[in-house]
Amino acid sequence: MSRPVFRFAPSPNGQLHLGHARSALINDALSRASGGRLLLRIEDIDATRCRPEFETGIYEDFAWLGLDWEQPVRRQSQHFADYRSALARLETLDLIYPSFETRGDIRRAVAERSGWPSDPDGAPLFPFSRAAMSAAERARRVAAGEPYALRLDMARAVETAVAVAGPLGWQEVEAAGGTTRLVAADPLAWGDVILARKEVPTSYHLAVVVDDALQGVTHVVRGADLKAATSVHRLLQVLLGLPAPLYTHHALLLDAEGRKLSKSIGSQSLAALRAGGMSPAEVRRTALEGLR
Ligand code: GLU
Repeated sequence: MSRPVFRFAPSPNGQLHLGHARSALINDALSRASGGRLLLRIEDIDATRCRPEFETGIYEDFAWLGLDWEQPVRRQSQHFADYRSALARLETLDLIYPSFETRGDIRRAVAERSGWPSDPDGAPLFPFSRAAMSAAERARRVAAGEPYALRLDMARAVETAVAVAGPLGWQEVEAAGGTTRLVAADPLAWGDVILARKEVPTSYHLAVVVDDALQGVTHVVRGADLKAATSVHRLLQVLLGLPAPLYTHHALLLDAEGRKLSKSIGSQSLAALRAGGMSPAEVRRTALEGLR
């Protein structure tokens, strides 16, 4: 039997903190326990926010923590052709369309509608409809060089996927204990998500799904903040004919005020903890503290 494949997939848009260490350490422990492999993937599609020094920092942190990862590391920015072929397949299925509304247009439309729903991440659902503009007009505006986002026609995508595969769901393996249960996917809660932009031929959702499949990832282990996104990932896997990995969404590490760690709230980086004299063993203990 082939070995299980795990991955840790950070974005080099800041320094890693203890929350990242938790994810990486759980992946490491689970891959070791199952005789599996651990891949490190650099999710650097956002050229405006990702920086080489943060990528170097990731390797330094990993080495310092005593984590081992396979070479070569896959860097998403080097694989745009793979994402373009996935988009082409979705286009053949008539499931994506260019939309031209700016963030400002979206904000104003949402402000005019009281109680307009948000997606699971708290961003307002796309408040416009594909049907409001003809395909010919959209094509004309793309050809004219206007900026656009490629959006998934969510209603049609779900209908298509359900017709192929039946009700959408995924197998969630509990981090503690390893029991598996089926979680129903609810991609409609995300509305017409962006899958690419004029200048970047992918998005987080698309790249993660394409890469997990191309790299043969069998176990996706990541923080609970990404659990809701798995609904979109399962949908894309069905539409693109990709295998379904098993998923584990582990509890997030919270600070003393109960907030999820992040650079924006000033959570200390692993590099800062290291400079402050914390040992790898202490980082391991703190990162895993409170997990059952
Ligand atoms: N790159 C994503 C992040 O840093 C994680 C992707 C994933 O684990 O699916 O939040």
